Amino acid sequence: TKWVYTFGDGKAEGQAGMRELLGGKGANLAEMSNLGLPVPPGFTISTEVCTYYYAHGQSYPDDLAGQIEAALADVGAIAGKTFGDPANPLLVSVRSGARASMPGMMDTVLNLGLNDVTVEAIAQSSGDARFAYDSYRRFIQMYSDVVLEVGHHHFEDILEEYKDLRAYTLDTDLSADDWKTIVARYKETVQAELGRPFPQDPKDQLWGAIGAVFGSWMNPRANKYRELNGIPASWGTAVNVQAMVFGNLGETSATGVAFTRNPSTGEKELYGEFLINAQGEDVVAGIRTPQDITEQARKAAGSDRPSLEVAMPEAYAEFIRICGLLEKHYRDVQDVEFTIERGKLWMLQTRNGKRTAKAALKIAVELAAEGLITQEEAVARIEPQSLDQLLHPTIDPKAERKVLATGLPASPGAAGGEIVFDSDEAEAAKAAGRKVILVRIETSPEDIHGMHAAEGILTTRGGMTSHAAVVARGMGKPCVSGAGGLRVDYAAQTMTASGVTLKKGEWITIDGTTGQVMQGEIKMLEPELSGEFGTLMGWADKVRRMKIRANAETPLDARTARQFGAEGIGLSRTEHMFFEGERIVAVREMILADDEAGRRHALAKLLPMQRADFVELFTIMSGLPVTIRLLDPPLHEFLPHTDAEVAEVAAAMGASEEKLKRRAAELHEFNPMLGFRGCRLAIAYPEIAEMQARAIFEAAVEAAKSTGQPVIPEVMVPLVMGRPEFDIVRERILAMAAAVEKETGAKLEFQVGTMIELPRACLKADEIAETAEFFSFGTNDLTQTGLGISRDDAASFLGPYTAKGILPSDPFVTLDIEGVGELVKIGVERGRKVRPNIKLGICGEHGGDPASIAFCEQVGLDYVSCSPYRVPIARLAAAQAAL
Ligand code: ADP
Ligand code: MG
Ligand code: MG
Repeated sequence: TKWVYTFGDGKAEGQAGMRELLGGKGANLAEMSNLGLPVPPGFTISTEVCTYYYAHGQSYPDDLAGQIEAALADVGAIAGKTFGDPANPLLVSVRSGARASMPGMMDTVLNLGLNDVTVEAIAQSSGDARFAYDSYRRFIQMYSDVVLEVGHHHFEDILEEYKDLRAYTLDTDLSADDWKTIVARYKETVQAELGRPFPQDPKDQLWGAIGAVFGSWMNPRANKYRELNGIPASWGTAVNVQAMVFGNLGETSATGVAFTRNPSTGEKELYGEFLINAQGEDVVAGIRTPQDITEQARKAAGSDRPSLEVAMPEAYAEFIRICGLLEKHYRDVQDVEFTIERGKLWMLQTRNGKRTAKAALKIAVELAAEGLITQEEAVARIEPQSLDQLLHPTIDPKAERKVLATGLPASPGAAGGEIVFDSDEAEAAKAAGRKVILVRIETSPEDIHGMHAAEGILTTRGGMTSHAAVVARGMGKPCVSGAGGLRVDYAAQTMTASGVTLKKGEWITIDGTTGQVMQGEIKMLEPELSGEFGTLMGWADKVRRMKIRANAETPLDARTARQFGAEGIGLSRTEHMFFEGERIVAVREMILADDEAGRRHALAKLLPMQRADFVELFTIMSGLPVTIRLLDPPLHEFLPHTDAEVAEVAAAMGASEEKLKRRAAELHEFNPMLGFRGCRLAIAYPEIAEMQARAIFEAAVEAAKSTGQPVIPEVMVPLVMGRPEFDIVRERILAMAAAVEKETGAKLEFQVGTMIELPRACLKADEIAETAEFFSFGTNDLTQTGLGISRDDAASFLGPYTAKGILPSDPFVTLDIEGVGELVKIGVERGRKVRPNIKLGICGEHGGDPASIAFCEQVGLDYVSCSPYRVPIARLAAAQAAL
């Protein structure tokens, strides 16, 4: 088997496509060699050796040693030196390199091959004894730390002590003799710590370092990182052995790192730092402050230390040329590492640069404009979820944060305001022009108005799919949920965390992107929906097949949705309208009425309010389809709780409080999610559906008249289990349409369809489709009913399910494709069989989740509907799914 792949001198046995075998670093070193770039020669020991190593009790294949010998000889031939030779020694670096870049792996060892003999040879050949011993002390320290496990602090202590003694401040103050003394002490320390001398044989040194790289693949830090990032242990790491070049060979030598474009803004400007007379990690280690590479950056930073551009103009020019070439070649921004040895530039690493969401957008659009990538590739390169970061205010990264607690990052964006613990107070404060953060142990549907009024929501209980989290995401409001380290005392009107107690009215800032809760007001940056955002969205829209609609009921949501490019409303939850202001009293009156006459009396009060809501919605969405779902939630959600609330409803109804309480008790349910809700309400109390249908149709006539645009409402019946229920409700809707047509003389255009959210409805989809004109898969409930898991209770046991791999992810966030997805497929197939042109969509949280959207594309849905703030994410995800 071939285990070892060489590179250098304008050629290589590997190339960029071989990252699985050679790791990212090795594959790119090979690629740069093939491109004829100045790369110190070296070789890569493949990831297959790592696999072999762990499969065979941490031992190596028999033929590995021979292949390494041969590769070392090749490298030596190119470099004109010999590994281990006392007169003309080759020194190497040993570098780990996995397929995906991975912190937690072994640190690089530089200057390997130095010993008491070769150090003298290096001093001779370089004519610089100081350099030779500086390199040797670095090597002893690095090798001891990563291979021998004698920690850095031993060596740092010795150096500090020595510097103090001699009154030196900088490492550069030390002479050759000083370093010689230091080297001797370092070796004594190793001897004392290990009971054996520092290894002098370069071969032993090399094998020790190789073993340390493979050993580090399974260290706890690396294991943890792999676990968190879903990297399989079977991938293994490669080892790169490479001839040393020296950035610490005096004032004409240097080392540095750079991005070919600014990774935080995406600006097309080289961004990087370097240090003169330094090696390897010095730049990032912070021992000395690095210098800017370009003059422009130096001026911007107001630094008086020369840029590389001025200090080493020739090496700089070559570096700029190579950066341009690498960007063109890899067709992406590169993150490079380089060293200059006595004026000559060497490239030591290149990889695609990590970047912020903002930079990613700008870079993708500009690379496409430059012709380096196609528009489709630009669309494919943006992580849809990352758009979230761009659509909300963020905390100024330069601002100081006093973090009190950390909860779940439930809904992205940052917000600040005065603490309030009550939704009514939140609303009042908002009306008075103040900014508030609603702080609750948890939220319920009755907090909707407070959540609307607040800048952000903070809860101490509940997960990513808790009421607060779901509603906040829907509203596009920042939310931190489940901040367990925080205690809320409603009675005292205080919250306590990290030993700090804050009272109502004091200012806090929350960051729903990180989950942090901070004290005081912190500077924010407003989202910039700059030109690139629009451009990329435009490209996405060109390749997308599915339509994107929004779940919206309030005028604000509807406007936001349109502004973000929604092509209609896929779900308007009419019950949300029932909670607002005065209406709740009339709604309660309707629910608590004990006969039809009582209900009709209350419904008559609600009709004009509903109609006005719909007129506004149709007007905002003018020209676009709007799906309106009839009343759905369990009735108990509307019931009065406090005595004051009961008294208020009693007064409105002219009934006794006693009687009302009794009626409320009657309505109590053991399992409301599977109780008296959805179309079951319309079956038992058809007058509710009639009122809603009348409001919809009258509003359609009115909005059509005032806007001059046709309004085509889609009336949606929730939670049917089969055709009979649907037909009964549909009859009432059709009758109401006929009545409104007759009364107004207008001709109505509309559709009546249903939500498919019960497994039985999926199975009976063929029958349902005989009369239903559209299906909207309500995958929130379909997940609850399909898995038999209550969304509101799942937080306590879902953790182990995903941790143990029983479910691949939270099924309320990403559709359970194997199970619930299968139900959807059955519904789609059976529905289409009977009504080939049936309109099919999905609403609910999954409609804004990229992985679920990909599934929707696959089964050929016509649209997905998601919360307004997720519309851009859905547009991009739908485009990627169609590519
Ligand atoms: P990391 O993965 O942590 O970046 P690297 O293997 O890239 O580790 O090594 C870190 C640094 O060590 C490089 O950026 C470079 O400055 C230096 N280095 C590595 N190999 C060599 C070499 N052959 N010659 C000179 N410097 C090297
Ligand atoms: Mg590196
Ligand atoms: Mg539902």
